[in-house]
Amino acid sequence: MVRALARAVAAFNAQAVDFNWTPVFSFSAMELRKDPITRSWVITGDDLPGSSAQSSSECLFCGDSAQVIAVAPNSPGAPWSARAVVHPNPLYRIEGDPGRRGDGIYDRMRSIGAHEVLVENANHDRHLWNASDEEIGQFLCLASERILDLKRDPRIKYISLFKDYGKNAGQEFGHPTSQLAATMFVPRRVLYELRAGREYFLSKERCVFCDIIQQEERQALRVIEARGDYLAIGPYAPRVPYETWILPRYHESSFERGGQNRPALRPNLAALLRRTLQRVRSITEDFHLVLHTSPSSQHPSKTLGYWKTIDDDYHWHIEILPVVGSKVKSYTFKEVYYSPVSSETSVKQLREARIGG
Ligand SMILES: [Zn+2]
Ligand SMILES: [Zn+2]
Ligand SMILES: [Zn+2]
Repeated sequence: MVRALARAVAAFNAQAVDFNWTPVFSFSAMELRKDPITRSWVITGDDLPGSSAQSSSECLFCGDSAQVIAVAPNSPGAPWSARAVVHPNPLYRIEGDPGRRGDGIYDRMRSIGAHEVLVENANHDRHLWNASDEEIGQFLCLASERILDLKRDPRIKYISLFKDYGKNAGQEFGHPTSQLAATMFVPRRVLYELRAGREYFLSKERCVFCDIIQQEERQALRVIEARGDYLAIGPYAPRVPYETWILPRYHESSFERGGQNRPALRPNLAALLRRTLQRVRSITEDFHLVLHTSPSSQHPSKTLGYWKTIDDDYHWHIEILPVVGSKVKSYTFKEVYYSPVSSETSVKQLREARIGG
């Protein structure tokens, strides 16, 4: 895998010349710094305005110019269905030494890792809400395979799969794409979930997500749709209006392992993802989507200790955070989330949205 990525990086460098891409920042300009209080890593440095990518007008992902890392099997009538390519402006790079070091009480390191673009479909206008379930299933399989592969790199602690769609959500490319970031640290929100899941399990010997699913299915107040073994719900305490989670109804900590063990269930997940995004799009075009799955088990952290029970106390899920123009209380943003539509109201609206198929 490392060799494949090194090849891909080399080819990306060659391609960078062809396509006249200017890196957003030079590798040395950005670094990772750890907040000593919350223990969260941030990427920081001087990303000078005007230095962002300049590209030709043609789509980088429609043609054969992007450097391919992995390809999902063909869908009928398409040259390929989904594929992973090197990000043209990676935030994390595979080569080099992290150079992790102390700076007094502080911690810093270079942004070593991997940053890939997952091209969801060969077709420029087939998105996760209007593609076929088979195509979406291929994309989900590709995502599982890429996560499993990146987890084999002993330096990598976590792999984030995310998608930003719409101009208010920081969409980067016109083509239907998601992104994968493999990092040497576990991102903040996932770390909170891992710690909380572990604490809950220690006191109750149950998975907090399984308990949430059980109560939501019993109360049926915030269930948007159930499809086979998957469930879409509005969380009890939403961070933004219309926040939606998709979870497996059975206990499974790892999305990628679940995909391997239960391939026959993927059509249900593909359909639920497609239908849920159609519902969200009945409210707003712009959204963030993120997959939360278990971290690499190659990295037992002695201080956190969450790896010991992770298969029992963590439960993978997809979070969709729509971006709606509302009465934003900016001062509370990220300090105390302010969501001016209740989960019960938003679920009712999403449930009743007119969606196709
Ligand atoms: Zn395209
Ligand atoms: Zn569970
Ligand atoms: Zn989560």
